[in-house]
Amino acid sequence: MIVLVVNCGSSSMKYQLIDMSDEHVMVSGVAERITFDHGVITHKLNGEKIVIEKDMATHKDAVDLLMEFLVDPKYHIISSMSDIDAVGHRVLHGGSKYSESVVVDDAVLKAIEECTPLGPLHNPANLMGINACAAALPGVPQVAVFDTAFHQTMPAYASTYPIPYEYVEKHKIRKYGFHGTSHRYVTLKAAEMMGTKEFKLVTCHLGNGASCAAVLNGKCVDTSMGLTPLDGLEMGTRCGTVDPAVVKFLCDKEGLTVDEVDDILNKKSGVLGVSGVSNDFRDVEEAMNNGNERARLAMQIFYYRVRTTIGQYAAAMDGVDAIVFTAGVGENSASARTAICKDLTYLGVKIDEELNSKRGEAMFINTPDSKVKVMVIPTNEELMIALDTVALTKDL
Ligand code: AMP
Repeated sequence: MIVLVVNCGSSSMKYQLIDMSDEHVMVSGVAERITFDHGVITHKLNGEKIVIEKDMATHKDAVDLLMEFLVDPKYHIISSMSDIDAVGHRVLHGGSKYSESVVVDDAVLKAIEECTPLGPLHNPANLMGINACAAALPGVPQVAVFDTAFHQTMPAYASTYPIPYEYVEKHKIRKYGFHGTSHRYVTLKAAEMMGTKEFKLVTCHLGNGASCAAVLNGKCVDTSMGLTPLDGLEMGTRCGTVDPAVVKFLCDKEGLTVDEVDDILNKKSGVLGVSGVSNDFRDVEEAMNNGNERARLAMQIFYYRVRTTIGQYAAAMDGVDAIVFTAGVGENSASARTAICKDLTYLGVKIDEELNSKRGEAMFINTPDSKVKVMVIPTNEELMIALDTVALTKDL
């Protein structure tokens, strides 16, 4: 089966075309500046970049341009659009309705639309992507894979905010959690590596956006992001958990509107806000190593929050058998992994620094006598989406 994986933002569309017979990526790319001037679509094919500059008024234009490229005989990717067997879409918010991926039909489209207040930037873009693919590839089944789905197994006491229950019911205000496709992918990989599904796992997705999940016997029981992806760990530009009173305080003191403060907490906070250097963890780590004290503080907050979240999840599950690091920082920064694990000796975590300094494949980085297994597992959300898409459409 050949599966097209699509991830739409409000003005962008990332894609991968995957041959599921051997799970290899035939081509990938990103269309940017959709709806703006100077649109550009960049394809990555056999290690080469092919850049096509063309304005795209809508996501449909981006999909049409992509299809034109895929069937272009010059590149030998596919011979006709009918070679694409199914399309899998990343969808941000499935609310409480979806705990698994689903084949898209009218009811699913309506449900994604209904979740727009919970994901105001992403869900409309995801819908545009689905509609554009439906128009360009009529009759080809499409699957929605929700970022929130994996976390739907959280018990109510972990997902319910202690605010008046009428608001919980009326506005569906609760913890949903995000990065679910990544947490699920590394959970499945970790189970393969452990040779069992029955264990207590903390998955740490540490990238520009960052979240942890507590996974008990394969099922998520808690996660650090909340109603939106703003909660939890310190991130590239997002503050993570702060006292909710900070919003009113900043509005009063700085004469800002709630929207302005929301923007500050989402786009100007995190390691960028604290360090004043960058939202890119590599730059902030480098500044810290060069003696920049605010960069040091930004990184210390980051390490501290991941470490204390792991401790919190040890309490949630009455122990931890394994910890997984994934995403940009989690996969690539040995020093971040060392700093996070440093004070987890009470759990029996011991890292082998030689193994920790290696890069690449999924691997264990703990010492033989460590009570807790520690793994680095490169995430692959696109493959997870493609696998779900195959599972749901192969018999259609
Ligand atoms: P992601 O959002 O998963 O793509 O992760 C992006 C983040 O990972 C960026 O802030 C990068 O600076 C960070 N990152 C990538 N490689 C490294 C590295 N070797 N050391 C530290 N941070 C890294």
